[in-house]
Amino acid sequence: MKRTTIRPENVHQAALLRLLRDGGRSRAELGDVVDLSRSKLNVELDRLVELGLAEPDGLAASRGGRRSGRVRLSQSTRFAGIDVGATSIDVAVTDGELKVLGHLSEPCDIREGPAAVLDRAIDLLGKLRRDGLYDDLTGAGIGVPGPVSFAEGVPVVPPIMPGWDRYPVRETIGQALCCPAMVDNDVNIMALGELHTGLARSVGDFLLVKIGTGIGCGIVVDGKIYRGVSGSAGDIGHIRVDDLGPVCSCGNSGCLEAYFGGAALAREAVEVARSGGSPYLAERLAAAGTLTAEDVGAAAAQGDPGAIGLIRDGGRRVGQVLASLVSFFNPGLVIIAGGVAKLGHVLLAEIRSVVYRRSLPLATGNLPIVLSELGETAGVIGATRLISDHVYSAN
Ligand SMILES: [Zn+2]
Repeated sequence: MKRTTIRPENVHQAALLRLLRDGGRSRAELGDVVDLSRSKLNVELDRLVELGLAEPDGLAASRGGRRSGRVRLSQSTRFAGIDVGATSIDVAVTDGELKVLGHLSEPCDIREGPAAVLDRAIDLLGKLRRDGLYDDLTGAGIGVPGPVSFAEGVPVVPPIMPGWDRYPVRETIGQALCCPAMVDNDVNIMALGELHTGLARSVGDFLLVKIGTGIGCGIVVDGKIYRGVSGSAGDIGHIRVDDLGPVCSCGNSGCLEAYFGGAALAREAVEVARSGGSPYLAERLAAAGTLTAEDVGAAAAQGDPGAIGLIRDGGRRVGQVLASLVSFFNPGLVIIAGGVAKLGHVLLAEIRSVVYRRSLPLATGNLPIVLSELGETAGVIGATRLISDHVYSAN
């Protein structure tokens, strides 16, 4: 059954809904932050309650006069977030304030193609529905690991996603879940997750560097994702760091990603193991026949010098690129995220030292460079932030 999602009727209602998404509050508190007369504010809030988008929530503590009525988003509001990675899929259902009510994650190969992978996502959400987490969805957001034409809701020539080029992802998800849907790049939705609930909550301008199978950068300007003209802004994995470097999956040589994506790290770990540079990795290789970025992390945690050397080398390359980006963009915060970021503080220390040494002092004077604290939830929360931004806008 096709259900119509109710949207705000004007920009004031939309702005109020976005404020309430950060938590319910009193009419008096809302009056302090919106540019509306008290009577106009009450008219718009009453209308949101009538539309079923918001609801009364008792009385606030007195600020001296009459106690002001509290308002919150409708408690039946539900958003779905889908985060498709190269090797995994995460789905979550949130309430209107984007608090996660249920989250499922499982391995999934993006190369199985869009029909199979999106079916899997819809099945997983069906499971959450049967668990009683929702009846109807207000909207669904989805992130995919490749460039996206945001306006059309389709991936565009994604290098690691065979069969996905121009596949109607937004339409497929919207039809299957009977609600508005939006699709974006996976790094962008992670950045939105950090903006909503992570370390970037109070930072309008920041960079999120995701180091996973590949390397990408989410660029947030004044609280909004900057996507560029064709949606490829932040594709820093293919910035060349050495003319004579190894060949990259994109066909060029010496790209950052060819040195330090998850795939490159695994390959280098095998070389180190075979050359006798790391007894720990040699043992793991002999037992498993292959090595992963996680093995490098585990080896480094044991103090293995070969593994620590690999992480330092990679961190230095990332730091080189990031130093240029910081001088150019002057962000208020840099967040390092993604599977390889689990390598932790050895990686972070190396990135910091290169960036602080190489960028302009004015750009790094107050610049924290930190590891994400959201882990796997950043993407799904960001996906719900993406669709809620759309649903809570007037058009
Ligand atoms: Zn490349």
